[in-house]
Amino acid sequence: MYTLKMARRMLLETDKRLLWKLVWNLGVRGSLSVLRHRSRMKRGVFFPPFLYVSIINSCNLRCQGCWVDVAHKQSTIDLPAMNRLISEAKAQGNSFFGLVGGEPFMHPEILEIVEAHPDCYFQVFTNGHFITEEVAARLHRAGNVTPLISVEGNEIISDERRGRNGVFSRTLTGIQNCLKHHVMTGVCTSLAKSNIDHLLTEEWVDRLIEMGVLYTWFHVYRPMGPDASTELCLTPEQQRRARQFVVDMRAKKPIVIIDAYYDGEGRALCPAANGISHHINPWGDIEPCPIVQFSRESIHANGDSRSLFEKFTESKFLEGFRSLAQQTTRGCIVLERPDLLEQLVVQHGAKDSTARGTALSELRSMVPRTSQYHPGHEIPEKNFYYRLAKRFLFNDFGVYAGHDHRATAAPFLNLPGAGDGVSAERTSGCCSEQFVELKAE
Ligand code: SF4
Repeated sequence: MYTLKMARRMLLETDKRLLWKLVWNLGVRGSLSVLRHRSRMKRGVFFPPFLYVSIINSCNLRCQGCWVDVAHKQSTIDLPAMNRLISEAKAQGNSFFGLVGGEPFMHPEILEIVEAHPDCYFQVFTNGHFITEEVAARLHRAGNVTPLISVEGNEIISDERRGRNGVFSRTLTGIQNCLKHHVMTGVCTSLAKSNIDHLLTEEWVDRLIEMGVLYTWFHVYRPMGPDASTELCLTPEQQRRARQFVVDMRAKKPIVIIDAYYDGEGRALCPAANGISHHINPWGDIEPCPIVQFSRESIHANGDSRSLFEKFTESKFLEGFRSLAQQTTRGCIVLERPDLLEQLVVQHGAKDSTARGTALSELRSMVPRTSQYHPGHEIPEKNFYYRLAKRFLFNDFGVYAGHDHRATAAPFLNLPGAGDGVSAERTSGCCSEQFVELKAE
């Protein structure tokens, strides 16, 4: 039944030219890029198949807990730099690029960037406010781009979470403009205590389907940056509820649901640890992922004449990050062991790649907490297609083999303390309460 309903939607609700671009550029060429990545890793060579590029730091919103320096002087990765970056990545077989911000549609050349590479596929993480009818029509003409528009709650919650009135209605207008012009459109939500009861529901998924949204992505809010809003964090029980919901809805609703943290058997993974993706910030710094704001290399020359491929494959800092993450936990090393990440940053002399220049002190003051790793509570995929796709294209690629995380990962640890005056208290079992609850003495 699910298969029929999904096939019906794809056939009746999509523009076939855009569907073909999606299937060929992302489905076929994107899959091949992952297979190349796996074979490169076996040869000890590294280049991530999915690059996420923050093309601008500026944003029109001020969301709670955002870690991007949105209020600092605007910095962008301009068209020539993007063309160079994409061309070098294409030479390694890449075809997919995530465009992030800030707000990517504030970049004056975003449409020229996607139009310059019709053989690639772009996913733009956006609040939707700048997607006018004209922009949507141009996205449709390009055909190789999908906006992933973030909705953070109902009108009241969304406006509060994103720091302005009218945010929710402007976001809905952006979604409607995309749908009116038959653009492949997704909606994402950063799940937090404030929105989980409204948006992690069948009613919301049904509403997205009725609107014509093709896919959705439920992230889990991660407390990072200078204004981390720890009160928004989900409890481990809520995180498992989110995973169960995604697995259930994937087997039931004709909408694609993305996640980035579990293999087909429901085992946790980190997409920076298995190397499937890395991040480039608006200043061109190469980082393991958007919340690890430290770097040794840049996409810009800056006196370093190496190719992009050489920078990625020769980077001792990136290699050290992946290796440490693989040894430490199947979850998120940043959340679980900021102390080990800090040691790595110091050891490699990695620079703080933020504009605010306080990333190291923020890391030092982080309280270790658990992440997507819930050993003993794995929830395998029910949907055959997701299970099959993950088996070949999205899993840990063997990077955790031989590592015993029981001495290092948060769910197992009586952590020695996250700083002066803080000590750890083990909770019963691995996942009750906040898994490992740290209490100030
Ligand atoms: S380090 Fe954490 S936030 Fe970054 S990719 Fe891995 S799991 Fe995600």
